Amino acid sequence: MIPVFDGHNDALLRLSMAKDDPVALFRDGGPGHVDLPKARAGGMVGGFFALFSPTPNQPLDFTVFDAPPYDIPVPDPLPKHAAAVPVARQVDIATALEAAGLIRLVLTREDLTPDPEGPLTVVLHLEGAECIDADLQGLDKLYDAGLRSLGPVWSRPNVFAHGVPFRTGSDGDTGPGLTDAGRALVREAHARGMVVDCSHITMQGFWDIAEEGLPLVATHSNACAISLTARNLTDAQLKAVGETGGMVGLNFGTMFLRPDGKRAPEGGIGFAVRHLAHMVEMAGEDHVGLGSDFDGAPMPEGLGSAAALQALVEAMREAGFGETLIRGICQDNWMGFLRRRLPAEDAPATTQEGRP
Ligand code: ZN
Repeated sequence: MIPVFDGHNDALLRLSMAKDDPVALFRDGGPGHVDLPKARAGGMVGGFFALFSPTPNQPLDFTVFDAPPYDIPVPDPLPKHAAAVPVARQVDIATALEAAGLIRLVLTREDLTPDPEGPLTVVLHLEGAECIDADLQGLDKLYDAGLRSLGPVWSRPNVFAHGVPFRTGSDGDTGPGLTDAGRALVREAHARGMVVDCSHITMQGFWDIAEEGLPLVATHSNACAISLTARNLTDAQLKAVGETGGMVGLNFGTMFLRPDGKRAPEGGIGFAVRHLAHMVEMAGEDHVGLGSDFDGAPMPEGLGSAAALQALVEAMREAGFGETLIRGICQDNWMGFLRRRLPAEDAPATTQEGRP
């Protein structure tokens, strides 16, 4: 079995909304895409686990994805207090999963030792920074709780940046990028050796982050060349990911995989491999990984949960990908990137050298 370290999932959000005990659900398995039994069955050794605040009363209506073209307006901004409550709950769940020996939070690069039989190796990620103030109050507390990755914005505007709408027939050039507060957040995250994620930010925001000198990372986005949708990346963006020593993680969400932008599950694995081949061609073979969006998006046929990850490995083999490339995409590229990026155990977080 090829080990998989995944760039993005929403398991903590799903567990936070479940009625049953989240630790038991994760340990014993349940209806979602990611839990310990499914991870073991599919060779998943860890990944980025997102903290996310849904917009109350404005749930994403997935039936819209059945009938492209679509252009779903971004939801209203979310006030800090409304964002902080679900994030705190999800941090508590991550802490409880760690206390139960089911996951281990990565705090430094020395913690990057994924073990197929041990606890899952988890990088805690914040998807949309609404729970942090414009003056960055709240970042310290999250960092101390183990946060090592953040996307300034989700597909919903905030004080830091503008996010892309779910829109077909368009790349991510949908509006302005980082605000001054967003630039300050990105610089501070960079100084701490955190990952800054460009998935969901506009194209302008992507280039603003490049201007700040960060490695460009899109944890769960695909190629506009195959599926032209605002959540995916153009060839110029994919090349910049490679040139800056960054990473792009393949999103399995059907509407980001399929050329027609539909959420229909048919043909998904084939499209996934086409995206991977294109992303490797543009970004380079050391800069492409997986970013499933498990528990956050509709999954393709044959890749319905973490338990099915080896089906994607098989599809890569059938498409002629070599074993080194497959291992790189599945785990080694994320590991290499994180070992360069995260703080070292013996280095104070604020003196991390700048990286390309
Ligand atoms: Zn997302």
